[in-house]
Amino acid sequence: MRKFHDLIEGYYRFRGNEWIEERESWSKLAEGQEPKVMVIACSDSRVDPATIFGTVPGEVFVVRNVANLVPPFDPSGGLHGVSAALEFAVTVLKVDEILVLGHGQCGGVKASLSGALRDAKPGEGGFVAEWIKLLDEAREKVIAEHGDGPEGQTALEREGVKVSIENLKTFPFVQQRLEDGSLTLHGAVFAIKDGKLNVLQEDGHYEAA
Ligand SMILES: [Zn+2]
Repeated sequence: MRKFHDLIEGYYRFRGNEWIEERESWSKLAEGQEPKVMVIACSDSRVDPATIFGTVPGEVFVVRNVANLVPPFDPSGGLHGVSAALEFAVTVLKVDEILVLGHGQCGGVKASLSGALRDAKPGEGGFVAEWIKLLDEAREKVIAEHGDGPEGQTALEREGVKVSIENLKTFPFVQQRLEDGSLTLHGAVFAIKDGKLNVLQEDGHYEAA
């Protein structure tokens, strides 16, 4: 596995090859960004949106966090990293679409499903435990229908994407743009193992892309 020193080696290759080849587009990008799509993905090292979708710099505005979650709109203060990025993407960049991208073998989803971190203290899993409480309602539903095994894991990965989409709709500036038809929300789950991407359909089911 590569460490920081190797990343710098990688940077030299990038600066000497790809950057030079795309010099013009980089200088255009230096003037500003105009991405049309926002992607909310998991921090998991295996699910890099740019790799999966073959995008180039400037094309997707990305937020990544544990289990690709969006909290509900909360104007009461606090440090809201996802909400800040969402606000910027929707009201300033005016992205046309937001994709919530879930994935297979998600550790955050697994922790929610097992409840293993439930009483953990900050620094011992407590931050993750607090964050994945966003999945609690979906978790109950999934366990009742699918149990807490592999089937439940897949089901909660899919339900988690829906939870984030529903929470996106609680932001007034998202709601406003949904109402005027200038913004569309999408969901998908990338399987990792077989490389399959299942896309959330309007009726709530997932279909292979
Ligand atoms: Zn994950």
